[in-house]
Amino acid sequence: MDTARTLSANLASLLRREHSALGAFLVALADFDRRRAWMTLGHASLFAYLHRELRLSKAAAQYRKVAAELIQEVPAVGDALGEGRLCLTSIVEAARVVTAQNWETVLPRFFGLSRREAMEVVAELQPHPGPPTRTIVSPVRTAPSEVAAGPASAVPPLPLEAGAAGPAGNRPSGSSSELTEREVNTSTPTHRPAEVVPLTADLRRFHLTVSDRFLEKLQAAKDALSHARPGATEEELLEAGLDLLLEKAAKRKGLVAKPRKTPRAAKCDHIPAHVKRAVMERDGGRCQFRLPSGEICGSTHQLEFDHIEPVALGGASTVENVRIACKRHNIISARRVFGDGWMDRYAPGKASLPAETG
Ligand SMILES: [Zn+2]
Repeated sequence: MDTARTLSANLASLLRREHSALGAFLVALADFDRRRAWMTLGHASLFAYLHRELRLSKAAAQYRKVAAELIQEVPAVGDALGEGRLCLTSIVEAARVVTAQNWETVLPRFFGLSRREAMEVVAELQPHPGPPTRTIVSPVRTAPSEVAAGPASAVPPLPLEAGAAGPAGNRPSGSSSELTEREVNTSTPTHRPAEVVPLTADLRRFHLTVSDRFLEKLQAAKDALSHARPGATEEELLEAGLDLLLEKAAKRKGLVAKPRKTPRAAKCDHIPAHVKRAVMERDGGRCQFRLPSGEICGSTHQLEFDHIEPVALGGASTVENVRIACKRHNIISARRVFGDGWMDRYAPGKASLPAETG
């Protein structure tokens, strides 16, 4: 634990230096751009200078170009980057809405956000005028960027995570040559994750690559529900399907609306449904494991019911003694109680920890 703390302190210190160096670099780059020094060195643009002379990838060059331009307009952006409050990948989004007039209120809204979260803020501040709600099905043959956008899309698809694809972001002022480079750089991954583009505060455009089989099932569901839900949209059908899945998962977790009677001779590690329900509600369906920082984990992934005082040590399956924990933290808790030796001997790997033990 002590070694881990020392290593962590070292990482934190290195990270501060990384942020500070990045901030200093971008402030200097803004000054370099202001003087048009790239032109003096014979480059066509700041982007070309970054890519050709400093050998940055196109994506890295684009992020830094946008940041340097924004810093010239709003110097506070340089401080925010240097202090690590603003992430370089979200700067492209911030640059769409932050101005010399509004930065004091708008810039802080981007602090600590990922690019995807930043896109949501932009969509809220600058809603898409008349967001398209059509469903478009197009065969996937050519570059995924074309398909993902669909013929009716007015919003260019952007890679959601930094480094996933080409230089992201295109300020309205961005030159067309740089946009072309962005497109060229888009690779052709076989498994492209679904893309979500925020359009307004609560509307998202969802790009999804599906199989023919999926479309057939969708059509079959449409037909099957043509009487019960005539004219249901694809979104409504899919949402209804998801509701069914969630209902099923909730039942499995003991969240059924009507509790069954608790069996009188329940096994001691069995958690009664009413306890599960109360625990689930109290913990808000999130892992309650407390991290060294004092925050709770909060994960909603692979949740399990964890006995705070283990059943093996006499802990009861009561609301007070049961909490929600994600699988990883359930294992960590068990290792803390029983020790690594015991766990390795009796529960090697711990990959298949039953959902009700803890
Ligand atoms: Zn957790």
